[in-house]
Amino acid sequence: MRGARGMQSSNSAGHLLQLIRDGRVGTRRELGQVTDLSRSTVAARLDALVNAGYLREAGTATSSGGRPPTLLTFDDLTPTVLAADLGVTHGRVAVTNARGEILAEQVLESRIAAGPESVLGEVCDRFDKLLEKAGRDPATVCGIGIGVPGPVEFEQARVVRPPVMPGWHDYPVRDAVGRRFKAPLYLENDANLMALGEHQVNFPDESTLLFLKVGSGLGAGIIAGGEVLRGADGAAGDIGHVRIKDGTAVCTCGAIGCLAASASGTAMARELRDQGFAALTSRDVVSFVAKGEPAAVAVVHRSGLLVGEVLATAISLLNPRVLVIGGDLADAGEQFLRGVHESLLQHTQPLATGRLVVTTSTLGDRSGVTGAVAMVRDQVFAPDAVDRRLAELAGAVS
Ligand SMILES: [Zn+2]
Repeated sequence: MRGARGMQSSNSAGHLLQLIRDGRVGTRRELGQVTDLSRSTVAARLDALVNAGYLREAGTATSSGGRPPTLLTFDDLTPTVLAADLGVTHGRVAVTNARGEILAEQVLESRIAAGPESVLGEVCDRFDKLLEKAGRDPATVCGIGIGVPGPVEFEQARVVRPPVMPGWHDYPVRDAVGRRFKAPLYLENDANLMALGEHQVNFPDESTLLFLKVGSGLGAGIIAGGEVLRGADGAAGDIGHVRIKDGTAVCTCGAIGCLAASASGTAMARELRDQGFAALTSRDVVSFVAKGEPAAVAVVHRSGLLVGEVLATAISLLNPRVLVIGGDLADAGEQFLRGVHESLLQHTQPLATGRLVVTTSTLGDRSGVTGAVAMVRDQVFAPDAVDRRLAELAGAVS
């Protein structure tokens, strides 16, 4: 849809805000020059943006003579964002400002399999508590971002036939959370969110990035052309359930031989248990690796090899500049990375991997929440969304 509009909307108030957010203009005069709008039109649109709380006029720019012009500043400190990153066995909820600075946060020990009513009720309760802790008025919430470990239909904010989220298929997440918080809600696959967060924070100039989440489960998020690639059904990057050669393990999705059934954190923990170690979760696997336990190192390395084999195809198709490994297993990064890297070199052409940067996430436990805030910001402050809200506010006044 983007780019299909005529010129008349490209100077709307929402677009003026975009110019200011991007740092391309900083004063009324510059806006007039860049857009060819009359002074009175610029003034009316800026007034609307200031009154709605998007902009502040603060400080002064240096002047070449005469009265120094007032600087226009995008206000990303006042709006509040509610973010939740829900994994299979645990998650994280946070209250941030629109700049992404975390004001209050909490780990959520709740299993996604408990179902949407229970999990979302818990998430909303935590949001309430964290808002209070951060001293934020719920009226300042500009958007809510939630990540889940399954495929998502983004426009409808619904989970679609998830392999490991019983009870979530087609559940109206927006309605359920909307009963507690009056702000736009966006739902996204967790690996997609992590890819988005990693891209915006660490690799904003790379157009193509692949993010691999290895936690209890296994999934990938793709940034292509600078944006999240969701695919036709929201299932792009769902590589955990690709069948691998000679795979015999039964997967949580019910199928036999999925990559996740052999190489996810859960699978690695099972493998270690079979060898007599007390490993229940992916986090236990990481702690055994941290202690230098050779059996754990070998299991993690072997998982890396398997994952690399499947990723080789993805790398050949997408030719990303960066492959970021995140999730719990990122903390056992070196062993896992080595396995992935070895596999990739074996299974791909040098052109696809020669300049590929393979690295672990620096955002750690917060990569999902960071991505959730980035998603909310991208949606809520997009020119069209801003124009729609200004029209609503104008309608409410008249
Ligand atoms: Zn599976």
